[in-house]
Amino acid sequence: MNFSSILGHKRQIEVIRRDLSTGQLPPAYLFRGEEGIGKKLTALALAKALNCTSPAVSEAGLTADSCGACQSCRNIDSGCHPNVMTMALEVNPDTGKMRQEIVIPQVRAAQEFISLKAVGSGRKVLIVDDSHMMNEEAMNAFLKTLEEPPDSSHVILVSSKPDSLLPTVLSRCRAIGFSAPDEEAVAGLLMERKGLSHETALMAARLTGGRPGDALAVEPSELLERRKDALKLIKRLPDLSVSQVLKEAEKTSAEGGVLEDIVNFGSAWFRDIMILSAGANESLAINRDLTDELRIWVGRIGGWRSEEAIILLEQTGAALMRTFNRRLTAEDLFLRLKAEILG
Ligand SMILES: [Zn+2]
Repeated sequence: MNFSSILGHKRQIEVIRRDLSTGQLPPAYLFRGEEGIGKKLTALALAKALNCTSPAVSEAGLTADSCGACQSCRNIDSGCHPNVMTMALEVNPDTGKMRQEIVIPQVRAAQEFISLKAVGSGRKVLIVDDSHMMNEEAMNAFLKTLEEPPDSSHVILVSSKPDSLLPTVLSRCRAIGFSAPDEEAVAGLLMERKGLSHETALMAARLTGGRPGDALAVEPSELLERRKDALKLIKRLPDLSVSQVLKEAEKTSAEGGVLEDIVNFGSAWFRDIMILSAGANESLAINRDLTDELRIWVGRIGGWRSEEAIILLEQTGAALMRTFNRRLTAEDLFLRLKAEILG
């Protein structure tokens, strides 16, 4: 993946390439924006351009993009280049479970990496994925690296929640905001890479919120199956007793990703009900293939309550990012959906 093969983000890449071609790259960037839209890919494309041994050059003779084919480019693609390191959430070797935060020993290892001289003529690049997941101690330690960056090294912070970064960290980075490429562009990518029909590709693009990373990662049939399960549960809530709802919450919260599916597919579902209630054309619905059913729900809950549902699901999505008690979050969501929205 080099700059020229990244989907969308033309303006952002333009800025980075300009920095690159003038040799004025800042010591630290912050790539911020929603998850799964290509921030980390862009960071890797920059790391490749900085280390490529036969880069494409600008008219002024400066590096404009990586070749994507040399040994250096291939090593970065496979995650084993001595000049490039990614720090991210990792598995805790003591428990075998994914850590919920980036911890200080990781920062120390990253600092050691960046203090070493670059190999060959390349540059050291440290990418911090989900950088907002650094705990406070880690972030404070990391600040030192940003204050006194070693020569010929670059840090790229990637974050979907930059507000959680310390202001002192933010102020030392040049921020570049990324937004989701439009869904037609994502659909085009799916048609090209996966040979999907236009209609299926568009459906997959919409159900994954226009995030190419997510859209490429799942099969459309799996996506439809997951949507079916998530919506089935939401629609059943009014018919369940409170104790049955609590049982569902327990079950759902124990299965990885199911609660997130309910939040994501549920949000798209209620959004469709809301826009159809407001008289929008059916072609604008995310779940266009379910229009008949959506119409029934428009009559049942209307626009105002679907808007309440969207807010509730948004709050739940945010809570899931920071809470350990998934069961309590699920209970609260299901009970409120039942009592306030669907009942
Ligand atoms: Zn190369």
